[in-house]
Amino acid sequence: MRLKKNKILRNMCVETTFLNDQLIQPIFVSENLESKKEIPGIPNNFVMNLKESIQQIELDLKNNQKNFLLFMIPKDKKDSDFNFNFQQNVISTIKNTFKNDMLLWADVCLCSMTTHGHCCLFDNNKNIDLSSSLSILSKIALNYAEAGVDGLAPSDMMDGRTVSIRKILDDNKYNLVPIMSYSSKFASNFYGPFRYAADSAPSFGDRKQYQLDYRNKSEAIRASVRCFEEGADLLMVKPGQGSIDLIQEIKIKTGLMVGAYQVSGEYAGIALAAEKELLNFNNALLESWHVMKRAGAQFIISYGARKSKELGISE
Ligand SMILES: [Zn+2]
Repeated sequence: MRLKKNKILRNMCVETTFLNDQLIQPIFVSENLESKKEIPGIPNNFVMNLKESIQQIELDLKNNQKNFLLFMIPKDKKDSDFNFNFQQNVISTIKNTFKNDMLLWADVCLCSMTTHGHCCLFDNNKNIDLSSSLSILSKIALNYAEAGVDGLAPSDMMDGRTVSIRKILDDNKYNLVPIMSYSSKFASNFYGPFRYAADSAPSFGDRKQYQLDYRNKSEAIRASVRCFEEGADLLMVKPGQGSIDLIQEIKIKTGLMVGAYQVSGEYAGIALAAEKELLNFNNALLESWHVMKRAGAQFIISYGARKSKELGISE
């Protein structure tokens, strides 16, 4: 108790602090929207058209939020003959507007593009077609890199996607574009509000064929080690709060930095409890971030990142 006597002394002894550039704000841009829609359960987060996303980023930059993870939802869903005109336009417009005042990561996946809403392609027997999935995921990554994205975040959980994306980037002189792999991603119940936002709920089955079983720790660690071996620059656990037992071990095994994605269901839990006046939203959010930091997270992806200045997190 002697070291808890006053605030300065408590701050002197604090073990986890962080900068707001270690917080990444997801943004959702849809091709199919007249005007923005708030995402149920995650207040102050919207699915937006491109013009609105520019206004939102402008506002976020004023609040020192400079690090973004972009999800793009094209109008036409397909299962073959994809084109990426919409996505390339979104990335190049954002980057041409804000240049290096911000950092733009793009989620690389198929679930917002396909008619069935899965993160992969299937053969005629509804089995995962790994080679065509990897080939299209790599093509997506290359298109995003060509449009000027700062970094790529593959979230599909197909075996071999990190090495496949790294190769196509390097072969096309994008060797300086980093890959932040969703490396340990569970088939979690906490993705609900996100699926609404990304229009990516699967139309049949579930994602247990390729996402991790939340009952398994070794399997989850192996998945991150594999992404490290395949050339990922940064690793990530998802859901963040539901994976805090993995972070330290992944760091030790790989030597890479590991981030945590506080997913929509986790964030919504805090928001809804606050709405019912059961807790203080800002205080609870800050605590949840410190828990992930304490567990060893280098960076945190959170729907509340744009509140970092309000929460007193320094630049
Ligand atoms: Zn996906």
